[in-house]
Formats: sequence, structure tokens, C-alpha cells
Amino acid sequence: MKNNLGVMKIKDLPGIKENISMAEYTTFKIGGPAKYFFVAKNPKALVQAIKVAKKNHLPFFIFGGGSNLLVSDRGYKGLVIKIQNSKLKIKNHNSRLETIYAEAGAILSSVVVFSVKKSLRGLEWAVGIPGTLGAAAYGNVGAFGSTMAEIIKSVEILDANNLKISDLSKKECRFGEKNSIFKRNKNLIILSVILELQKGGKKEIEGKIKKFQFYRKGKQPLIFPSAGCIFKNPKGFSAGELIDKCGLKGKKIDGAQISEKHANFIVNLGGAKAKDVVKLIKIIKQKVKSKFKIELEEEIQYLGF
Ligand SMILES: Cc1cc2nc3c(=O)[nH]c(=O)nc-3n(C[C@H](O)[C@H](O)[C@H](O)COP(=O)(O)OP(=O)(O)OC[C@H]3O[C@@H](n4cnc5c(N)ncnc54)[C@H](O)[C@@H]3O)c2cc1C
Repeated sequence: MKNNLGVMKIKDLPGIKENISMAEYTTFKIGGPAKYFFVAKNPKALVQAIKVAKKNHLPFFIFGGGSNLLVSDRGYKGLVIKIQNSKLKIKNHNSRLETIYAEAGAILSSVVVFSVKKSLRGLEWAVGIPGTLGAAAYGNVGAFGSTMAEIIKSVEILDANNLKISDLSKKECRFGEKNSIFKRNKNLIILSVILELQKGGKKEIEGKIKKFQFYRKGKQPLIFPSAGCIFKNPKGFSAGELIDKCGLKGKKIDGAQISEKHANFIVNLGGAKAKDVVKLIKIIKQKVKSKFKIELEEEIQYLGF
């Protein structure tokens, strides 16, 4: 149905849902309701959802796996769009390199599995990082000294301003430490990514993956819901070590706790609220600032605050 200006009402968008708990969609298991919620399985559906949101003067927010998100207890009064396109294929190959085309909603770990199957190296470090490939490019995620930027050739984007689709070269993505043009311009929505990986020996690739998995299990509190590391590492320092040296490991506010295993993780012990996490974040920032004169910066993204 259309309103008297001939604009489709948000409630009439096919597939739209209302009052969806974001706690169900985040790895933190925290967050109030999204007023409207839509799953975009392809660019056409995404464009339509954005058009309708804009015409109805509703803000919108894009997300993937919800593994780097803290959603407010009050939720979000706009439209939350989950990116769920997930095609994955080899695009080009030569004797040394292969390029993979992967849609933004592809789960990062399935891209890792795909690369192992094809005996491609360069993505082993990403094993165990939850979430989608699109968000991995957005945040230039990294682990064990490697980052997404090293293997990205180009990124296909939808500009929500003019609804045009175009390609950005790696240089145009302006990747930095856990940073990219996408963090600075929220109108740029990632649709797909071209990755460039090198041919390698399957045994060696699998060996590296096992080593990284083993390390993660030993160092990270994977049995509790969390959003991974809360803070970026300041240049030359480990945020976790700084927090630990402030004696904050294990500090609790209701259901939220600074992990005893890894001080840069806040875990949800059960029933934690966003406000509890926010209080812990504030305490950490204050203590680290006063002890080390270092300003910690959040790696997690906030929604609805
Ligand atoms: C146990 C655990 C371990 C982790 N380990 C690591 C690690 O080793 N290294 C690391 O870097 N991170 C790590 N993380 C953090 C997290 O997994 C990554 O940041 C991941 O890339 C987030 O993906 P997501 O799809 O869940 O993103 P979401 O949480 O859904 O979104 C994160 C941000 O990306 C934006 N976004 C999502 N999709 C798109 C898109 N298509 N276009 C534009 N913007 C988009 C959203 O707007 C949001 O701001 C870990 C998290 C957990 C819970």
C-alpha cells in the first residue's frame, strides 16, 4: 500500500519484520528491538529496502553476522538490514594466483574453507573470526599479523546516496589499522569482494589453520557470548595487556564481565545488558588513561546509542 504521496509504506515492503530482538542477531546476545528488520539476499532487494526507508524518512543500518556489534538496550528506531548474499566462486586463475569472487554476506569461515579446498593460501589467519566477508572488509579485520587489506583486490559497493553500484580498487578502499573508507562513509555498502590468493600446498595450509585454531581456543573466552576484542590495539601496545595491568580482569557489572582469560574481551555471563557493557568500557578507558596516558579506542561498533 502507498501513502498519499504515492510512496510505499515501510510495513508493505515484502519480507519486512517488526520489533525484532537484536539480541538474537548478535554474538554478544545483547540488544533491544529493531523497529523494522529486513534480510537482503541480493542487491535488488537491498536497493528497494533503502529506497523505501529513505522515502519514509527512516534511518537504516547495515549489518552481517552481528559479531562486532553492541546494540543499545532500547534497540534501534529505524530499519536494520541484514546482508545475506553469499555466492562464492573462483573468478580468474593463473599458475600462481587465483582470484575469488565472494558476496558480502558470505560467512568469512566459509570463505576460509573454500580457499583450503582450492589449495589457496593467504586466508589461514582468518579461521575462527566470526561474521561476514563484507564486515571483514569494512573493519579491515586481522589476526596473527595479517589483515584483510593484504588480500583484497577490489570491492563492489552500493552508494546509498545515489543508489549507484561501482567498484573500488584496494587503494580507493583506504584501508588502515582496523579502518577503511567504509567506516568513514556509512553510505558505502559492500556488495561483494574480489580476493587475491596464492596457490599453495594443502597440507601446509591445513597445518597453519590448525595452529591458529589451537591458539584461539587457548587464549580467547570462546564459551561465553562476546563481540571479540572491545578495543583496537594502540600503536605498539596490546590493549588486553594494558587492561590486565590495571588489574581489571574479572571485573563484573551484573551479567557483564571483563574476561578472566583475555582482558580485551567483555563476556556476557548471562542476562548482561548493553548498559553494563558500556559501564565496563568506561571504567577500562578511565583506568588505562590514568595509568598509561593512553586513550583506548573501541573496535566494536555501536547501534542505537
Ligand atoms: C569470538 C570472536 C573472535 C573475534 N576475533 C576477531 C579477530 O581475530 N580479528 C578481528 O579483526 N575481529 C575479530 N572479531 C570481531 C568480528 O568477528 C569481526 O569484526 C567481523 O568482521 C564482524 O563481522 P560481522 O558480519 O559479524 O559484522 P557486524 O557485527 O554485523 O557488523 C560490523 C560492522 O560492519 C558493518 N557492515 C557489515 N556488513 C557490511 C557491508 N556489507 N557493507 C558495509 N558495512 C557493513 C556494520 O554496519 C557494522 O558497523 C571477533 C569476534 C568474536 C565474537
